[in-house]
Amino acid sequence: MPSETEVAIITGAASGIGRALAVHYAGRGVKTVIGTFPGDPHDPEETLMLVKKSGGDAVIHEVDVRSTDSVDAFARRAVDEFGRLDYAVANAGILRNASLPELSDDKWADMLDVDLTGVLRTLRAGAAHMGSGGAMVAVSSIAGGVYGWEEHAHYAAAKAGVLGLVRSVAVELGPRGIRANAVIPGLIETPQSLDPVNSLGPEGLERAGHDIPWGRVGRPEEVASVIGFLTSPAAGYVTGQSLVVDGGLTVKMRA
Ligand code: NAD
Repeated sequence: MPSETEVAIITGAASGIGRALAVHYAGRGVKTVIGTFPGDPHDPEETLMLVKKSGGDAVIHEVDVRSTDSVDAFARRAVDEFGRLDYAVANAGILRNASLPELSDDKWADMLDVDLTGVLRTLRAGAAHMGSGGAMVAVSSIAGGVYGWEEHAHYAAAKAGVLGLVRSVAVELGPRGIRANAVIPGLIETPQSLDPVNSLGPEGLERAGHDIPWGRVGRPEEVASVIGFLTSPAAGYVTGQSLVVDGGLTVKMRA
């Protein structure tokens, strides 16, 4: 049923930063289509429960950002279910380890399909269902967005690409009153970073926290609230930008 309440789509919202964002939106009265990827073990019902606990409204929708049809149907669900779309958040992402000799064309293509083309599909589908006005955020990373990371060239390339994509989308959609920005998270404790094979794992995160000026790694809520800001009237003149959320990690000088 159509309503005047704002509506958001979030890919990868069954866990981590996406889940925290759904809960953030619930607190603001923004209705959400919770994107969940059935290939992963995360429980979208947990996100929905937290949203309801915060007094919000949401629906769960299976989406695979590797498929244009799937992402188009995901964005359409916002309009079918809640009557409009105001915010599109391209949050879904994967992280894989591969040294250069291991980085086959297939591994490269699989990574870019999710972490870069998946973002394009989400922003493009979001724009198709927004009227005049709205905002989009894509989730980049300090890996690629700021730093290089050994054994993660494909991930870093995708995350750097997200920044160019967002700048161009911002220029193209500005005349329609649609803003597009990126967040660049540092080390945030989520299922992705807790994976000891492809990322730092619990012990690596604990160690890394000591080297961060803020003294610890970040929480998903601390990125979600920044995405919330970028998709709010408070950021009404901010577009084409990227905001680092890293507890000071990237500004610390190392001898
Ligand atoms: P996460 O693993 O909890 O979230 C990623 C989500 O993407 C998962 O819910 C997963 O199911 C979903 N996903 C994976 N493949 C998908 C597909 N094909 N289609 C749809 N959804 C798919 O980890 P997170 O840290 O919350 O990740 C959110 C975003 O933040 C990612 O883009 C990630 O690269 C980025 N990021 C995370 C960190 C960090 O330290 N955690 C740092 C920088 C950037």
